[in-house]
Amino acid sequence: MTAAWDRRSLVEQARVEELALADWLPGAVTFAPHWSAVVDGLGIAPGDLVTREDLLRIPPSLQGQVAASGGTRMVQRPTETQVKAVASASLLLRIARGIGGDQRAGKRDLLLREFKPVHVTRGGAADQLAIASSRADLDRQHRVGARAASLLGLGDHDYLVSAIPAGPSAAFWSVHALALGSSMLALHPRGHGQGLERCIDAFGLMPTTAVACEPQEAIAWAEALQDAEADVSRVDTVLLVGPPVDDEARAEIEAAWRDAGALESELVVRSLWAPDVHRSIWTECHEGVTGLHTMPDLEVLEVLDDATGRQSDGSGDLTITSMGWTGTTLLRFRTGVEIGGLTDDACPACGRTVPRIVGPITEQRWQPELARNGGQVTLDLRAIAIEMESATVSAWRVELFQKGQVDTYALELGGAVDEQQARELAAQLRRATGVAPGAVRLKSDASVVVAKVQAAGSPFSDAR
Ligand SMILES: [Zn+2]
Repeated sequence: MTAAWDRRSLVEQARVEELALADWLPGAVTFAPHWSAVVDGLGIAPGDLVTREDLLRIPPSLQGQVAASGGTRMVQRPTETQVKAVASASLLLRIARGIGGDQRAGKRDLLLREFKPVHVTRGGAADQLAIASSRADLDRQHRVGARAASLLGLGDHDYLVSAIPAGPSAAFWSVHALALGSSMLALHPRGHGQGLERCIDAFGLMPTTAVACEPQEAIAWAEALQDAEADVSRVDTVLLVGPPVDDEARAEIEAAWRDAGALESELVVRSLWAPDVHRSIWTECHEGVTGLHTMPDLEVLEVLDDATGRQSDGSGDLTITSMGWTGTTLLRFRTGVEIGGLTDDACPACGRTVPRIVGPITEQRWQPELARNGGQVTLDLRAIAIEMESATVSAWRVELFQKGQVDTYALELGGAVDEQQARELAAQLRRATGVAPGAVRLKSDASVVVAKVQAAGSPFSDAR
């Protein structure tokens, strides 16, 4: 037996991950057309993909590589024959149990529950991906919600008012799952495009103990409640739905809710968030502000260096494998979210042993929006890095700049590069990103380029 999910030793966590991956990975790379094609292209048999080491044979992917048809080719839609061929022992067992009197109908019901998409949210850069969930995924998300609530010290005695607008967003459905999973009574009074009015009236409907909102609205909401003389006296938890804010912003939010009349002695302000392509719910614990607590038995997380795509020990591109989830399937998906780091040390506040995301978080860090011909396009700088990694140049950097009315980028190459090679590289980058460089600058002294990269701490800079 292993300990509870949040108290396992690193050895136990690795063992649980090993079992979960072996159970899930062969199906994931068979049932989702995109991943099946990738694995086929690598010449790997699905049955040979069972461990983390095996998983790492699959190259990390960028949104641009999976975005065709909104990412629907990442969704698992197996046929019965495929299930028979690669289903894990645990799935076969569930099928066997699910088959009651009517064999055919029982099997069909179970496959529908496990795999049929029933719910979609939007995610990724410019919301271009449709993230699908099966009923099994939604059950799982509610379990995740129960865990998150427990981390936050919330439970069935709580009354939550959420100011997250209704819509197909990860933020809205995370708060929904949090409430459902913990059996608290929750009100989500705000429709899409509406202001905070309904979220003020809501305080008259129930004895609110917890509130959830986007960080940038937390102060305005508290002030509006104060103006309306709403009864905020039972509120002890302010949940900020988004990447954690810095200490100063947190203190200001806390002060605003105290001024509005929240429970002086017990008030905590905590963040809850996960990338919107993933269906997990990570949160800070009630006991302290020590980073977002992740769920190692329900996902595989990596941090990759933005310029090289290799494993990073510190900050980098948060990369997710959606271990155990059906619906939309992420295999080493580079989210484009820069995190300060991932630590394995037990939480100094609550003692939980799950990995925590620490340091600042920046969404869409390497996917700037460029103004082009009256519209916007997303440029994925990481796709440039992948191309340049394989190019034979001594040094390179990319700088965004404005050229007339449009945004573009300059490719700066250091060392002995001739014009022909530069033209070929520019064409390669246009193919890889959809946007050709607006300028190519050759610097015969590579150290000039290296120095600029070192000074900026990145091969990418923005001079707009
Ligand atoms: Zn903790």
